[in-house]
Amino acid sequence: MSQTIIFTDLDGTLLDHETYSFEKANEALRAIKSKEIPLVICSSKTRAEIEKIRIKLGNTGPFISENGGGIFIPDGYFGASEPNWEDAGGGCALIRLGAKYDDLRDAIVKLRSTGFYIRGFGDMAADEVAELAGLDLADAELAKLREFDEPFTFYGADKESLRRAIEQLGLHHTMGRYHHILGDSDKGKAVSILAGMYRRKFGDITTVGIGDSPNDVPMLLAVDVPVVVQQPDGKYHPEVEAPGIRHAGGIGPAGWNKAVLEIMSQR
Ligand SMILES: [Mg+2]
Repeated sequence: MSQTIIFTDLDGTLLDHETYSFEKANEALRAIKSKEIPLVICSSKTRAEIEKIRIKLGNTGPFISENGGGIFIPDGYFGASEPNWEDAGGGCALIRLGAKYDDLRDAIVKLRSTGFYIRGFGDMAADEVAELAGLDLADAELAKLREFDEPFTFYGADKESLRRAIEQLGLHHTMGRYHHILGDSDKGKAVSILAGMYRRKFGDITTVGIGDSPNDVPMLLAVDVPVVVQQPDGKYHPEVEAPGIRHAGGIGPAGWNKAVLEIMSQR
């Protein structure tokens, strides 16, 4: 039987939208740990934020930060390091797929000068990010340690002309909990690269991807078993579609729990 690998979004998916708790997924988390099924975090959060959550989860494997901007691989996890891997410190190698953060900040300033009232995390003090995200101040500091992707707020109605203006700068737009401006990276490209490495490690693999928002769609298109969880209002995001997508039948981590237990029982 093939080895299952689970790729998961965090905000609104494994973590509750309001409380950021994964408690409702504990049963499935225990089950995959006992079966040694790798769980790969694939989030728009920063490396620093994800590392903190990995400790809480007891997760020691590779992870993907900032909407596919960086793949972090613990030293030795896939054997010797490869030429395109950078030493990222902290016992990790980095495969860089994302834009340079400074270029994204320049783009935010440019877009604002053309009349889009947008504010990136780089424009906000930590207490403003904390207020916006419902995080404590220490976690807001971690959220501001951006490397490859800039989340921003935009309360204007014309999302389509904002998207076009971003594309004209040679960059891309996606939506998670916030708007994001990013380079040529997305969650799907990062997942495909990591899945290739897992295939070399294990041979036959089956990849599962779980998300809730448009920024998860490239990941859901890149896996064998795509899963969408419900948003806090109990609805599925209308833009989250993929062939053969499974509806988790629960909100955030509760849906995650249900879907993962169901997939495991079927395999
Ligand atoms: Mg999400």
